[in-house]
Amino acid sequence: MPRAFITGITGQDGQHLAEFLHGKGYDVFGMVKGQNNPRMTMMRDEFPFVEPVPGDLADLPSLVKALEYVQPDEVYNLGAISFVALSFNQAELTANITGLGVLRMLEAVRMVGGNTDNGIRFYQASSSEMFGKVRETPQTELTPFHPRSPYGCAKVFGHDIVVNYRESYDMYACSGILFNHEGPRRGYEFVTRKVTNAAARIKLGLQHELVMGPLDTKRDWGYAGDYVKAMWLMLQQDQPDDYVVSTGETHTVEELVELAFSTVGIEDWRSVVRQDPKFFRPSEVDLLIGDATKARTKLGWEPEVDFPTLVQMMVENDMKIESDKLRRG
Ligand code: NAP
Repeated sequence: MPRAFITGITGQDGQHLAEFLHGKGYDVFGMVKGQNNPRMTMMRDEFPFVEPVPGDLADLPSLVKALEYVQPDEVYNLGAISFVALSFNQAELTANITGLGVLRMLEAVRMVGGNTDNGIRFYQASSSEMFGKVRETPQTELTPFHPRSPYGCAKVFGHDIVVNYRESYDMYACSGILFNHEGPRRGYEFVTRKVTNAAARIKLGLQHELVMGPLDTKRDWGYAGDYVKAMWLMLQQDQPDDYVVSTGETHTVEELVELAFSTVGIEDWRSVVRQDPKFFRPSEVDLLIGDATKARTKLGWEPEVDFPTLVQMMVENDMKIESDKLRRG
């Protein structure tokens, strides 16, 4: 059986990818940080087939030990400080984990055995936030980067160091430039989940208002379950390469809010939504829309879940979670 090692296993994408690879017959190993990670119980309950392996992206020896133990065929580096707003407050931590963490992971792969001839294949979770103040629309693999946050800057370093290791050491290393992708497993700190959860809670009378940042920001939102397939496809090709993964559609945050509230039957969403400058970033990314032609043509990848279905899926999941909590008291 092929063996996959995933960093960021406790995050949204790590969970989807673990499920996907398990379905494909992989032995799945997930790196878990900390001596008492609060998400371990969830991992043991929902993903009993994942073997947890200790390690931290800040600690190279732990990455080498993990790879020596797992002897993986494929490494998926999804671990990161991934919340843009936090990266403004903890810029050094973000640079260390989201940026330098990629270098450490590549170095560990190189040390344990990662050249193109049957060596470890490496996937890096790059991000559309690297495009930031976009130089062209839609954005492709060739669009210049102009990051607008410490997170975006750290991702640019991670992206560039993957290209450098691929070219310098003949490693099979790829980056997926993924545009925003969401789903019921999205963290509550992210805007989509904040909105779908608030719609459910306001409908159930558990919350009275939703406080938001800018509503005119535009994002290309897809479903995480679709996007992890693209990660795997990238590692099954003859040659390593980088790919944009996106839906090619953009929607405003306002459309997201309107759709989420209308799913729970609240049409007059303006009566419960208020804006607060506290939620505006020091520098904003106004518009993201990706052109995934290369992924569609070379990988044969297609997104299956559209934006309204995605929002509905998330709101229904939050209605269930919040109603269950209410029932239990
Ligand atoms: P997420 O839910 O925030 O998960 C982040 C993961 O990183 C968690 O498992 C977290 O572990 C782990 N992590 C944090 N610090 C770490 C450290 N020092 N060492 C090892 N692991 C650490 O993120 P996601 O949405 O699944 O995204 C996965 C990756 O794709 C990230 O790199 C993200 O930046 C990138 N990305 C995401 C999107 C998107 O829209 N979702 C778009 C483009 C790129 P703990 O649970 O222990 O904190």
